[in-house]
Amino acid sequence: MMRGTMARLVLRRMTSRNEDHFILMYHHVGPMDRLGSLSPYVVTPAAFAAQLAVIEARRLEVVTLGELVAATSGERALEPRVVITFDDCPRELLDAAVPELERRNWRATFFAVSGKVGGHNDWDVKRGSPRVPLMDWSDLRELAARGHQIGAHGSSHTSLRRCTHSEARAELTGARETIEQKMGTAVRSLAWPFGDIPDGYAGLCEDAGYDAACAIFSMSRKVLSDPFAIRRILVSERDVGLRMRVKLSRSYLRARPLIVDRRALKSTGAIPGRTT
Ligand SMILES: [Zn+2]
Repeated sequence: MMRGTMARLVLRRMTSRNEDHFILMYHHVGPMDRLGSLSPYVVTPAAFAAQLAVIEARRLEVVTLGELVAATSGERALEPRVVITFDDCPRELLDAAVPELERRNWRATFFAVSGKVGGHNDWDVKRGSPRVPLMDWSDLRELAARGHQIGAHGSSHTSLRRCTHSEARAELTGARETIEQKMGTAVRSLAWPFGDIPDGYAGLCEDAGYDAACAIFSMSRKVLSDPFAIRRILVSERDVGLRMRVKLSRSYLRARPLIVDRRALKSTGAIPGRTT
């Protein structure tokens, strides 16, 4: 094989693995008057629909996180894709968000707290936020049957940075095993509770059987460079129109590790993240 051809193939392979992708992070879609104190993790149904319209206008392909991870392990160069993720799995999403996605034939990735399924967001309530019912196992099974991905968000929504190594391992393994047992499908994706990434996180994920973990901030150069600290874009109520178009730009992705993530890291002295 010609040397130049080989170099191009290697370059193409590297490019496909490190392509820019937009991993969006949502929590609640519902009315501000009831959920407002959970802001900025709440978007109204109107803002959510407007945000999806921007994705649609950009003609970006929407895939689940599992589909993206599988696609980037191949050699084919990928155009930028959008992954829509929801942490915590509040029940209101079934009426306020899922129909908007499915109307466009899009599928999302939902991160469930295995020990709180069918319960409520007690970790928010402890901080004075409103009580929000969470999806039960039948809701999650229904979503999975319609093509959505169900990932794990820990067993008890505890910050794993405040746990011992063995406690963190039990949280991650327990979440995967419980969801797999209740759903009857494999669970390979995780979202760190509160976005907090513990020491030794890559080994923890591998030992617990995950192949991808979503963070919020990451010091990796590109979105998927570190599969266990995948950088996500927080989408809030204000991100409509131009703001949403900016967040769905390559310039924004390239600026994130240099500006937003670095600033966040500096402010806490560690890879941070405070979210519900
Ligand atoms: Zn959460």
